[in-house]
Amino acid sequence: MGQSRSVVLAVVVLMVGVVCGRETGTAYPDVPRIDVHTHAGGDLKAVANYLNLREHLKATHGADLAMWINLGGGSSPITDPVDVLEASEGRMLSCISDYSSHDGLAFAPAELGQWGAKGFVGYKIWAGPPARKLKPGQKGFPYIDDPAHEPTFVAAERLGILLASIHIADPCGPWGKRTKWLPDPVEYWRNITAWRNVMERHPNLNVVCAHSMWAICQDAQIDYLRNMLATFPKMNVDLAATFQYFDLVTYENLRSFMIEYADRILFGTDIGRWDGPERGKRYAEQYWRAFRILETDEVVPGGFFSQNKIRGLALPRDVLEKIYYRNAARIYPRVQEQLVTLGYVAP
Ligand SMILES: [Zn+2]
Repeated sequence: MGQSRSVVLAVVVLMVGVVCGRETGTAYPDVPRIDVHTHAGGDLKAVANYLNLREHLKATHGADLAMWINLGGGSSPITDPVDVLEASEGRMLSCISDYSSHDGLAFAPAELGQWGAKGFVGYKIWAGPPARKLKPGQKGFPYIDDPAHEPTFVAAERLGILLASIHIADPCGPWGKRTKWLPDPVEYWRNITAWRNVMERHPNLNVVCAHSMWAICQDAQIDYLRNMLATFPKMNVDLAATFQYFDLVTYENLRSFMIEYADRILFGTDIGRWDGPERGKRYAEQYWRAFRILETDEVVPGGFFSQNKIRGLALPRDVLEKIYYRNAARIYPRVQEQLVTLGYVAP
């Protein structure tokens, strides 16, 4: 009798878990989430797709994807951040972007201050490994600490312009694993060191490093990232495209890093542009996987990208709030006022 009662109880608990549990719905429906690393560009139809994705995510999993930072890119250069803001119903803020830093930075340092007045909230620079941008023998500016870039960093530091999701390096190691974009560790550290040189010269730069500076695929890289964040208090990192690699590092190291530096880590995905509602629904599921990795202790069938099983970090609520929106509201211009306009309580 006692045994059958406990079996019934177990079945009921299981059913409640499936219906109300975290696998189907977030435990934090009241926490807004801001994706600081997206590439909608200036295509207003693409921007509208983000709203459909948002609705689907809320309806299926209860998660409130409140805002996006648009880093441009793709075939559609940003034309007007005001249009993008309007098309997104107040949910998407845009950055000026420069994906060819190896050919020289595109925006005149003397004019950097004007972009903020036009509605842009940051300056995105792609400064990844020169091997991906420069052909052998081609001249250019291989590393981000090239003296040619100095006037830009001088101006950005003086004016307090946010370097939004600046891309440094590419995933490197553990060797033989999936992180094969940049297999050469020497080249990897040249990129990282070049960026450190910039921060040494300009410690007051407001920065969010994309993809956690790509220093999150090995335990020793995470330790180095700790060192960078401790040394440069105005440097922050986003999590875009990193979830898929969380199984490459020690669970406790990654989790303690997230908690220790919760004030400096921002949610991001690297989502791009797409056509049609079906792709939007699939993207909503990718967001949901990323949220589950941060919020639950479940084994999640993939990160935002990729299908590798990742064990959830079960981060505390206050850490999640910082990563999801409080840090973005503090670091990016206009985010706090936009959240309030949208009806959220001021962070
Ligand atoms: Zn990106």
